[in-house]
Parts: sequence; C-alpha cells; structure tokens
Amino acid sequence: MDRAQITEHLKFAAELGVAGVSRDPAWRRRAPAPAPSAGAEAGSGAAALVAVRTEIGDCTRCKLHAQGRRQIVFGVGNPNADLMFVGEAPGADEDIQGIPFVGRAGQLLTKIIEAIDLKREDVYIANVIKCRPPGNRNPEPDEVETCEPFLFQQIDIIQPKVIVALGTFAARTLLRTLDPISRLRGRVYEYRGAKLIPTFHPAYLLRNPASKREVWEDMKVVRRLLKSES
Ligand code: URA
Repeated sequence: MDRAQITEHLKFAAELGVAGVSRDPAWRRRAPAPAPSAGAEAGSGAAALVAVRTEIGDCTRCKLHAQGRRQIVFGVGNPNADLMFVGEAPGADEDIQGIPFVGRAGQLLTKIIEAIDLKREDVYIANVIKCRPPGNRNPEPDEVETCEPFLFQQIDIIQPKVIVALGTFAARTLLRTLDPISRLRGRVYEYRGAKLIPTFHPAYLLRNPASKREVWEDMKVVRRLLKSES
C-alpha cells in the first residue's frame, strides 16, 4: 500500500468507528471469537467491514473502473445497525464524496430515516454496486454480478434485523426476481436472517412526490419490525 492508500484506509476505518492504531504487538492479536450465544463483539463488525473494503481494494473487476468513476463508494454507518438501507449505485455527489446517498436523493433518505426517529448514524447505508455508472445509467447485469458479493458480505457482517431495499435494482438483486418495485413493495420478505422491505427509491420520490405516502406506510412497518422481539 502506498501512503495515499494507507491514509484512505485509516480514514475509512475511523468512519466505521475504529478508534485508533497502535504499534504495540498486543494490538495485532485477534480477539477470541465470541461464543455463538454471546452476540457480536464490540468493534468486530467494524473490523470485518474494513477487511471487506480492503479486499475490494482499488477495484478493476468490472468495466466501471475505466468509465470515469472517481472512487469506490463502499458504505457508511453503524456496523452493528439493526436497520440497513440498500440503494442502487453511487451518483455524481456520492462519487465525489465517497459516501452513499449524500445528494438530493440522499437528503430525502435522511428525512425518511429521521421520520422513524432514527439518525443516519444509527443505520447502515450501502449500494448494490460501489462505483458510479457513467451518466448515472442503470447498472448492467455483469456489473451487478461482479459487485453484489461485497454487498452480501456487508449484510452478513452487519446482520441487520431489517433491510430496506430502495428501488427496483436493490429489490431485484436481493430478492432474485425481475419484478418491478411496484409489484414487490407492500410485503415483508425473509432475507438472509433479516426482514426485507422493498420500497420506492428516494430519487423516484423526487420525481413522484405522491408516492411518499406508500413509502411512509413501508417505514411504519420498518419501525414496527425494529421494535418487535424477533
Ligand atoms: N442513489 C443510489 O442508489 N445510491 C446512492 O448512493 C445515491 C443515489
């Protein structure tokens, strides 16, 4: 790793809650694996996410790396979140900042999160693909196929209680269907140990504000599921 990569790696680790580094060899030893019933050890999710980000590296696995993307937009938020949002792909603002959902659609997503009395920092936000498609075109099947294993790893590390799939691409990728979001939403799906709620993408809501009512209905289900025991 060169100096710039190390800096980026440390910045990313800090965003995930890794509080510091030490040259003390004791810090290099892995913490013992938690007993199955003991739940996730504090910080282990953050470290596991850093490992996935490191594995992605400066990715050249699909053609998007050569089509003008500035950086990989991995994901942001609480590594132990009960609630995870999955979007489609970074847009122009996300490509510049390296953080998902920071543009206009992102501001609306923040409001949606706050509407159920949570903060962005409480949840985890990621996309199906980690690089911006040129001109914000739809992700292509080979790009989704190449990138989705990293999303699946993120989900398996975070183990959220509830996943909200934002829009057709996220819902189709996670549910392995070709149905459009309008057909998929309105139901709760079982997915990788979580409850999955498909809903409209915030960018769609910016164009179709009347659909905010349905998203609000979906978010009330999310809030109920988060409060439930199981
Ligand atoms: N749209 C998405 O699907 N993801 C983002 O990160 C931003 C906009």
